[in-house]
Amino acid sequence: MTFKSAYLKLTLFYVLVAMIISAIFSILLYQMSSNEIDRGLGRQDRFLRELPANNIIPERIQQMEQIRLEQLKESNNHLRLSLIYFNLLILILSSGISYFFARRTLRPIEDMMDAQNRFTADASHELKTPLAAMRSEIEVNLRDKKLDMAGVKKLLESNLEEIGKLETLSNALLKLARYQEDVKLSFKKLSLPEIIIESFEKVESLAKEKKIEFENNLQDIKIKGDRQSLVELFVILLDNAIKYSPEKSKVYISTEKENEYTTIKVRDEGIGIKALDLPYIFNRFYRADSSRSKEKMDGYGLGLSIAKRIVELHGGIISATSKIGKGSEFMVRL
Ligand code: ADP
Repeated sequence: MTFKSAYLKLTLFYVLVAMIISAIFSILLYQMSSNEIDRGLGRQDRFLRELPANNIIPERIQQMEQIRLEQLKESNNHLRLSLIYFNLLILILSSGISYFFARRTLRPIEDMMDAQNRFTADASHELKTPLAAMRSEIEVNLRDKKLDMAGVKKLLESNLEEIGKLETLSNALLKLARYQEDVKLSFKKLSLPEIIIESFEKVESLAKEKKIEFENNLQDIKIKGDRQSLVELFVILLDNAIKYSPEKSKVYISTEKENEYTTIKVRDEGIGIKALDLPYIFNRFYRADSSRSKEKMDGYGLGLSIAKRIVELHGGIISATSKIGKGSEFMVRL
């Protein structure tokens, strides 16, 4: 609704500008043409006046003067009418063209607003879920007359778990917001294996819990990038590889340099991603059904969108291939 009125206002503004230009142009044209006609008729008049005295009949001159004035009036009327028609035509044409341009101008803003609204709705929904769970647990426990210390402890533990989820979500949202703005990353020459090892150290305990082994094939490659965000990128990919893999499986990391491109691959032997889900996994809040329902894995579908943004800020591309039940491979090209 707000955008409809914005379209209308912008259209009116464009039409107003077009009509002001057209009116100025018409007034100038009218003045110039009217002067020109007047000058042309004046010449005839002068010619008559300059005739030898015996050829001049005063009534004739008066008649000519009369005709001149009438002709001038008539020509001016014609001119005025033509200019009115011209301006009407401009009004009709400029209305159509202005509406077209108003839509074109506002379309990207409307799309951005739509995306922003969808994001706010999704974020609110995700925030509401743990809050609702906490509220209902607290309400049930408060109604329980026989609630003992053990029950209270259990409730607090469960609440703490939900608070943890809220914290994870708000951290992810903050990261996303930070990378969404035009952040100034500090680009430096970095050692790629060092970054990958630093990322690996951050997820090592998770891998140990699931007895997942890592197999690395890291070349000594130097890249230009922002250290902190690149570590964040590989933590997201490694964390997913661990999260969506069965116990005692393997995760493979390899790096390769070809011409000026550096390729980093993270491959797992996990649950895989359906071909239907693959195009959407980098969208904000997108989670494949398998990670939402059956397995009940933690996450909000924000990791890969943050990863994609980091890669974009480094002028690179990220892609994924996967076979359901066999595993997935994420490829970053910088
Ligand atoms: P999440 O927090 O849900 O892991 P992500 O944005 O990191 O969010 O990933 C989006 C979705 O992509 C996940 O919910 C999951 O369905 C799928 N996915 C990502 N990485 C993998 C992987 N290595 N193996 C299988 N599925 C994956």
